[in-house]
Amino acid sequence: SKEVATNYVESVFETVKKRNPNETEFHQAVEEILHSLTNVFELNPSYIDHAILERLVEPERIISFRVPWVDDAGKVQVNRGFRVQFNSSIGPYKGGLRFHPSVNASIIKFLGFEQIFKNSLTGQPIGGGKGGADFDPKGKSDNEIMRFCQSFMSELAKHIGPDTDVPAGDIGVGGREIGYLFGQYKKMRGGYQAGVLTGKGIDFGGSLVRTEATGYGAVYFVQEMLADKGDSLQGKTVVVSGSGNVSIYAIEKAVELGAKVVACSDSNGYIYDKEGIKLETVKRLKEVERKRIKEYINEHPNAKFFENGTEIWSIPCDIALPCATQNELDESAAKQLVENGVKAVAEGANMPSTLKAIEVFLSHGILFGPAKAANAGGVAVSALEMAQNSSRIPWKFEEVDKKLQDIMKNIYKNCIEAADQYGKSGNLVVGANIAGFLKVADAMIAQGVI
Ligand code: GLU
Repeated sequence: SKEVATNYVESVFETVKKRNPNETEFHQAVEEILHSLTNVFELNPSYIDHAILERLVEPERIISFRVPWVDDAGKVQVNRGFRVQFNSSIGPYKGGLRFHPSVNASIIKFLGFEQIFKNSLTGQPIGGGKGGADFDPKGKSDNEIMRFCQSFMSELAKHIGPDTDVPAGDIGVGGREIGYLFGQYKKMRGGYQAGVLTGKGIDFGGSLVRTEATGYGAVYFVQEMLADKGDSLQGKTVVVSGSGNVSIYAIEKAVELGAKVVACSDSNGYIYDKEGIKLETVKRLKEVERKRIKEYINEHPNAKFFENGTEIWSIPCDIALPCATQNELDESAAKQLVENGVKAVAEGANMPSTLKAIEVFLSHGILFGPAKAANAGGVAVSALEMAQNSSRIPWKFEEVDKKLQDIMKNIYKNCIEAADQYGKSGNLVVGANIAGFLKVADAMIAQGVI
């Protein structure tokens, strides 16, 4: 019954809070999932009998380790590294590594938990994991980055492998870091196991389209949401937060599909260019020179720079793509977007909208693509990279891009169908959570209590 299902979900959530005190981000991710699953437990009480939720919210394994390294001044530094191996019921643990000073157990667990459902949604055979360190790459030299990556991998290598756990990038970990991490892993193993990491350089086992995949995928997802309403990106005004890998390729694809992107940001603030952001400048500043986004206005004096990054959501737009970080878009920002007539919101970052912000979007009938669905293109192409590594046959750009488009279409379709089936038509948050959950839960039951 509804009461039994509600009580079950509440009691599991209470246990999570008790077992993981003060881990607010992890609580938030769990709460969002649990509440959308109540209907599933009401209609299929056997999941309750199998204690599926109790098992899902407890990681299979958490590794926390010391990362000592020597900085350019010769001083010894120590950071804390993590790998959460959350769920391996449908494939090897898969998920990125984040290097950012805010990294702690709560952040890595929220990301790892979300990754289970996201990876399931892609339709690819990948379980859920995540890792990282509280290391701040900002201002570090290339040599310091390399030494840090080598020390980090010295421990991580003991726990990963092409068939067990396959890390990739996330905030602060891009192509350069994956290269250093891969080099260290290869040296330690004494064998070329290309499939141990994804996001590698094209010359040593990387996949074409992996760099673009998260941003392109998010825009393909928006395309699906709009097409369902007989609309398209043509002529739309778009605001994208962030200016990292996800944002850059979201901007590129949105522009290619006829939209105008007027703003993007970094942790220091945002730029507004009403004629449309010149992406080549952003790419050079961020990917090559590793500079701040405010430098943009030196080259484009008609653009403006504002220091308060969260105010980026006060710019009127048709489509908002939060692609920076968790909880960057709160209730008041959501209200402002709605007042200014936003039509669609899709999450390129992980958990960028607070629970209250999501409520605002849903209650106003705004098209809302949750992170698990909208940003799944990145990890989906990582799974395609693993497939190419296993077969030792690289695919063409067009081939991978076509597969990415099909995957995003399928994710959208599965979310819509799951929402319909459980009486929440059009609610992609519920749809994504249910569709992601069912496959993992059924695999867990089939494999017994382990
Ligand atoms: N960090 C990305 C994510 O949040 C990609 C992970 C991967 O490719 O394994 O999904």
